[in-house]
Amino acid sequence: MQNEKITIFDTTLRDGEQSPGCSMYLDEKVEMARQLERLGVDVIEAGFPIASEGDFAAVKAVSSEVTNATVAALGRAMEADVAKAGEALEKARHSRIHTFIATSDIHLEYKLKKTRNEVFEMTRRAVKQASGLADEVEFSAEDATRTDIDFLCEILDAAVDSGASVLNIPDTVGYMLPNEYAAVIASVKERVVRDRDVTISVHCHNDLGLAVAGTLAALEAGARQVECTINGIGERAGNAALEEVIMAVNVRSEKLPFIHNIDATLLYPTSQLLSSFISFGVQPNKAIVGRNAFAHEAGIHQHGVLSNPLCYEIMTPESVGVPQNDIVLGKHSGRHALVSRLQSLGYKFEADEVSELYQRFSALADKKKNIYDQDLLALIPQTMPTAIAA
Ligand SMILES: [Zn+2]
Repeated sequence: MQNEKITIFDTTLRDGEQSPGCSMYLDEKVEMARQLERLGVDVIEAGFPIASEGDFAAVKAVSSEVTNATVAALGRAMEADVAKAGEALEKARHSRIHTFIATSDIHLEYKLKKTRNEVFEMTRRAVKQASGLADEVEFSAEDATRTDIDFLCEILDAAVDSGASVLNIPDTVGYMLPNEYAAVIASVKERVVRDRDVTISVHCHNDLGLAVAGTLAALEAGARQVECTINGIGERAGNAALEEVIMAVNVRSEKLPFIHNIDATLLYPTSQLLSSFISFGVQPNKAIVGRNAFAHEAGIHQHGVLSNPLCYEIMTPESVGVPQNDIVLGKHSGRHALVSRLQSLGYKFEADEVSELYQRFSALADKKKNIYDQDLLALIPQTMPTAIAA
């Protein structure tokens, strides 16, 4: 069987940017969009044009800047929103209007104060209008995972009939377990898509820490577009992290036989670029791009990694663009790690000298949590003049 292509839809500049501490200036958004295009993202959601002048300007600027990627603009299923999205996308080489409306009873009753029939009609009108203003239309049923499945399928069907070619099934509140979410996707595939040329999209939030797991389960159930963000930024606990989805697909390709356009060696630089624009960095133990993601401190691990990285590494730091294996020396580090680090600093020692150095190292490590290169250099006594190697 041929591996199927998945579309990577990045919403760092929309779902990500609208979350606390993540707002960016226009020039930063444009630079981020350029980097996302280099990374190989297929669709860049650049903003929600009717929400603010800043979002309108960002979608407009990104539309002029980007050449290969499709630029998407978000709008509610309302005439003014769709018109504004279309206007912001005028310069885009490939444009997509992403229109949405909530479909769950709880949202209909308390937020929209509309009947199912009204929501149904709004969907048809908005999708039809959007089809005339952009190359393609994506429709999202907000809070899809808490929507009655029969109504969900009916409204998605109407969206396809009105011109939508991408159907997004967001787990807006991050509530779904991966197997439940997969079942919803499978139903939509069977009841709505059938043999039509329509792509199912997934959009998971991380409230229960399950965004990436849900995304992967949805791919296995037939979804072919992933909505995600760099560093997993986004509303509340965030969205599915692009770098985690990509590396799961790359590392476990035998179970996840999908192809994509992402250049994984740009994951780390892209993560760093985003961190430099927003007000917080990546948590140190974050998968793939965290400072400690490839750091091995325990002595037995360090010895293993130095003899053969496959002992503890399922992927190399280089494969995601981290410059080098960042081994942190600490009190659990063994002799091998010490010698290796000293060698990489340009020093070579005889066995008896190593013993003495290791004693000094252990004494220091008892007092100091992390030992940096400078600390190591200070450990080398003046009485070891022959120690300096080329
Ligand atoms: Zn979202």
